[in-house]
Amino acid sequence: MHGKRSLRFLRKAVWIFSFILAPALLTAGCKDADLPDAETQEAYQTELFAMDTYMTFTAYGDNAQPALTDVADKIRELESRWSVTDEASEIYAVNHSRQGADVSRETAELVTFALDMAEKTRGALEPTIYPVLDAWGFTTEENRVPAEKEIRQLLKSVGHERVSVDENHIILEDGMMIDLGAVGKGYAGRIAAEILKGQGITSALLDIGGNIQTVGSKPDGSDWRLGIQSPFGEGSLGILEVSDKAVVTSGNYERYFIGDDGRRYGHIIDPSTGYPADNGLASVTVIAEDGRLCDALSTSLFVMGTEKAADYWQNHTGFEMILITEGGEIYLTDGADGRFSINTDSEAGVHIIQRET
Ligand code: AMP
Ligand code: MG
Repeated sequence: MHGKRSLRFLRKAVWIFSFILAPALLTAGCKDADLPDAETQEAYQTELFAMDTYMTFTAYGDNAQPALTDVADKIRELESRWSVTDEASEIYAVNHSRQGADVSRETAELVTFALDMAEKTRGALEPTIYPVLDAWGFTTEENRVPAEKEIRQLLKSVGHERVSVDENHIILEDGMMIDLGAVGKGYAGRIAAEILKGQGITSALLDIGGNIQTVGSKPDGSDWRLGIQSPFGEGSLGILEVSDKAVVTSGNYERYFIGDDGRRYGHIIDPSTGYPADNGLASVTVIAEDGRLCDALSTSLFVMGTEKAADYWQNHTGFEMILITEGGEIYLTDGADGRFSINTDSEAGVHIIQRET
């Protein structure tokens, strides 16, 4: 699994077990009329490749098919606005104009959100990390270990506090680049859920490259059952039960390369050093209503490491998390405990992080 080719696409972080329980589901875009409504509503499924990842959307109910088409259209639109490499994108315009560029309100809002989260996480989320990421080859898959001096130099072009957003106009300082890669997919889940709910859908499961956004519960009213992937190989570590929530995982096992020195270098960069985060965490899963928040947090809590991530949770409400360390220990926050059942064959130690009062 170490070859560059195999790393091109993110490995799925979350497996969906709900398929087993929803027999009406598997035919893409067409309903199984033989199944009685009361038992399982009609299911529709759409697949697309966007934002450099595979997405599978499943929605239930009469209006599900046109609603999913709207979702797919919306996500393609977001991709074309936020691509760092597409010369026609809004982010490209911002990154390549010294005078800055006008962007849509939606883009300005997500950039503002990312900057706000950068502030809250003290720069663990760093939307301007792109030049460093590029030097490591994570933007092209031509990976290399940059020289220390090169990293030091590039870090001068990194700093969310130097991005200025004036309504819809965004200006960066010379040499800087902004990238919404750490929050875009989470936002896509959130907006997809909004579109579906706006069209009367009360039950849907959106898989965005392994990150999950659920709408409501399963058609039978029970929670969705999501398998949380072990960061150490194939297979799931346990099952998380949720309704109406997003579940987003970050980890350096998803996309990495092995250097000539035999070391493993992952795609999540610690902005304080310019090197891949390497603090003993293997993966972070965040559970919250807002997929955008989940995405921002899973990346930044991964950068922080176990202790700082636990501190962050102590000081902020509105999300729960599952931390898995390189040593196989599992840390669950209070609200995730009881919703996450660990596979019985797992030998990992489990620790519950309680709210300090
Ligand atoms: P995610 O998969 O949401 O954790 O986002 C990781 C992606 O965000 C990487 O593939 C990079 O494109 C980018 N990235 C890496 N490190 C950071 C960071 N510290 N802050 C913001 N974005 C980052
Ligand atoms: Mg993220």
